[in-house]
Amino acid sequence: MAILVIGSIGLDTIETPFSDGPKVDILGGSASYFALAASYFDRVNLVAVIGDDFPPALLETFRVRQIDLTGLQTATGKNFRWGGRYHLDFNTRDTLFTDLGVFGSFAPVIPDAYRSSEVVFLANLQPGLQRQVADELGAAPRLRALDSMNHWIDSARDELTEAIRRVDIVLIAEEEARQYAGTPSLRAAARRILELGPRTLVVKQGSYGALLFTAAGDFFTAPAYPLEEVRDPTGAGDSFAGGFLGYLAQRLTTGAELALADYRRALVYGSIMGSFACEDFSVARLESLTADDIAARYREFVTYTHFDGNW
Ligand code: AMP
Repeated sequence: MAILVIGSIGLDTIETPFSDGPKVDILGGSASYFALAASYFDRVNLVAVIGDDFPPALLETFRVRQIDLTGLQTATGKNFRWGGRYHLDFNTRDTLFTDLGVFGSFAPVIPDAYRSSEVVFLANLQPGLQRQVADELGAAPRLRALDSMNHWIDSARDELTEAIRRVDIVLIAEEEARQYAGTPSLRAAARRILELGPRTLVVKQGSYGALLFTAAGDFFTAPAYPLEEVRDPTGAGDSFAGGFLGYLAQRLTTGAELALADYRRALVYGSIMGSFACEDFSVARLESLTADDIAARYREFVTYTHFDGNW
């Protein structure tokens, strides 16, 4: 089984209330965080573009995790760069700049060897490209999922709607679900998004956890892991998606038909991988995890969330 991800590889500049000045040009991007998180669950095939100013040493990060880079293009021009500044609560941030560089003219090419990937994640990127890749792959993948963000909801809303119509799962941050659906009610937003066709919607709520809505009317929620110290929440959403889809891909490998219980556990694995991403700047923590680290946090989740239903 393999997971295909198409998204951004960025050089981020991050400021947090405690970062002692900005961290400049550190590895980021939706595909980077997703690929590293998902690599703890299954093989990952990556499609992305980097500029010719991208430091080659950073690619080692992917190679060490055995992420397949056949689909990585290098284009002439500057790499995608994004700058963000976090507020004191770490749940809100300001985008300081978005310089698309070569990402602005990215034309994804899916290598033949990737076409059998059972799970596809259209990570945060131009919705027109998400739609194009979904059309190209057709109904072959067992699961197709996408994520998006305010930048694209503002600039490419109709294209995003078309992309949403073509996937099984939408993962989106709370404020973006509201922004897209034009309603303060998450439940109403979920209904509007699911009416477009996806069977599952995951709403990410930062340090407040995540919600799962299904077209069949199921609802589930998982808290966020209570970290002692958050250093940099960048990429938590993409890492969440890596844990969520990584676990589902792992379940598919066993030949299982996915049931609600799998999606519930996937939500917890998403929360776990998102929490690890927050423990250090860039992808540092996602490079150094062990299977035991993930299993230990999973056991903590079981303990923290269990309650006696007798009353
Ligand atoms: P998250 O914190 O999960 O929302 O993801 C943050 C990552 O998304 C950063 O590492 C950025 O490089 C990347 N990013 C920011 N803006 C965009 C965008 N418009 N398109 C694609 N990726 C982006």
